[in-house]
Amino acid sequence: ATHEETLGFQTEVKQLLHLMIHSLYSNREIFLRELISNAADACDKLRYEALDNDAIFEGDSDLRIEIEHDQDAGTITLRDNGIGMTRDEVIENLGTIARSGTSEFLKQLSGEQQKDAKLIGQFGVGFYSGFIVADDITVRTRKAGTDAGDGVEWRSQGEGEFSVADIELERHGTEIVLHLKEDAREFADDFRLKSLVRKYSDHIDVPVRMPKVEKARDEEGNEIEGSETTTWETVNEATALWVRPKSEIDDEEYKAFYKHVAHDFSDPLTWSHNKVEGKLEYTSLLYVPSRAPFDLYERDGARGVKLYVQRVFIMDDAEQFLPLYLRFIKGVLDTRDLSLNVSRELLQQDPQVDKIKSALTKRSLDMLKKLAKDDEAYQTFWNTFGSVLKEGPAEDHANREKIAGLLRFSTTHTDSATQDQSLADYIGRMKEGQEKIYYIVADGFNATKNSPHLEIFRKKGIEVLLLHDRIDEWLMSHLTEFEGKSFVDVAKGDLDLGEVEDEEEKKAQEETAKAKEDLVKRVKEALGEAVQEVKVTHRLTDSPACVVLPEHEMGYQMRRIMEAAGQ
Ligand code: ADP
Ligand code: MG
Repeated sequence: ATHEETLGFQTEVKQLLHLMIHSLYSNREIFLRELISNAADACDKLRYEALDNDAIFEGDSDLRIEIEHDQDAGTITLRDNGIGMTRDEVIENLGTIARSGTSEFLKQLSGEQQKDAKLIGQFGVGFYSGFIVADDITVRTRKAGTDAGDGVEWRSQGEGEFSVADIELERHGTEIVLHLKEDAREFADDFRLKSLVRKYSDHIDVPVRMPKVEKARDEEGNEIEGSETTTWETVNEATALWVRPKSEIDDEEYKAFYKHVAHDFSDPLTWSHNKVEGKLEYTSLLYVPSRAPFDLYERDGARGVKLYVQRVFIMDDAEQFLPLYLRFIKGVLDTRDLSLNVSRELLQQDPQVDKIKSALTKRSLDMLKKLAKDDEAYQTFWNTFGSVLKEGPAEDHANREKIAGLLRFSTTHTDSATQDQSLADYIGRMKEGQEKIYYIVADGFNATKNSPHLEIFRKKGIEVLLLHDRIDEWLMSHLTEFEGKSFVDVAKGDLDLGEVEDEEEKKAQEETAKAKEDLVKRVKEALGEAVQEVKVTHRLTDSPACVVLPEHEMGYQMRRIMEAAGQ
């Protein structure tokens, strides 16, 4: 080896390594999933590069992953003939974490094992998970299409630093040798490895092979010492999951595939697998996660589907196929409608993309509608992603009504901060003669619940939606009606309770207004410029007065958002 140097891990890597090793002990088998997943990605990338440059295969287009172990030495070796890495790439990929939001994420970790394990799962551990089971890892890699002399050896004990050196490497691709910790030696076992490989990589397109040692037998059927021959046996199914017929795929396989695609530890809430033929030709497999990724609200957080064109992997995180308000959906899109050499730039111009996008949007919304039949699962979904879905009506006018049907609210019906009531529930409980859907927006649940604006509604038993999320006013400015019933902000404009009020009440109100004209005049003089108007109201039953915004005025939340944006 030449040009050897020792480098320090980026601080974030050190922190992650430390926390991961301590909190993922009971999940440690996932290291194999992560490494196989990387090897499969590397094969996908090479296949893609080879589309217009066959030579890059270096005569070896039979993409595969090999796993070997040595029980005595306590090692596991993973090998792929995928894209490989250059020296610079090795230093970048296996020395840093190049994702925005990483340090904020690390700050959330508390040192409390179970909590951290969950968070780290959301973050995705990747390559570094090898150090959960190994106290020494060697990576030998060479980028496909480079010279044999361009190999790189990376080595680390998973503490503060790693070394890199140039080496001679005959084959391209990556080989990873894990030297197992004393207490993880159980993984250097044929049976254990095989069952893990099946568990984690049946759905991966690339064959995962393990050596099978056979001894010849003599005439009496006894094994002959020293006659071992080794053949490679493919251990996984090695067909892309989404290509297989739905009827042949069981839930466990769908879940395992989700973990591969989404880099998540926990099971998805639901999924939807569809093959479409006709004007558009595509297969999609979309998932609703049960947990939010750490970068859900990051501007450049990972989102979108894994894109394949005719089974060839094209790119991760193709965000053009789903609207932003569905950015939590994970999965795969495989289509014949795009060309193999499509790029991110080309995707933005391709009219087929919009068609597929609107189809996938429908599928996602339908999937959520189905999920909503299961109250508990839907509540998990709503608590996790509800405020993202609330961006929907503003972004996607065409599907406004559908999205509105998926929203959940706090209301005076339950008077609970849990958002679990649908608009259909509300409409089902409307009073006779009630034509509108009433709502109030304020900062915080208690501010809505205790608002004096609700007094008359409570008295009359009319339900009001209690909106207290930051995004709610924005949402309501884009939702005008649901099932033909318009929305009314109870804190704005004149209050018209429609048919719910009878004639007598109205008359009485008018009389009161007349009788109090003098008082109104005096109050108005006293308040002067501070108010536009002073009116007698029948909104209140207990409180003497309240502040009301004109009907078309921007609400408090919106004003604050605009102010924050410097407007
Ligand atoms: P992720 O897979 O989410 O990007 P990882 O930590 O698993 O994160 O891997 C980091 C990066 O290292 C990968 O994105 C890839 O560029 C590189 N890498 C890891 N394993 C391999 C491999 N077997 N072949 C080529 N590149 C790899
Ligand atoms: Mg990975």
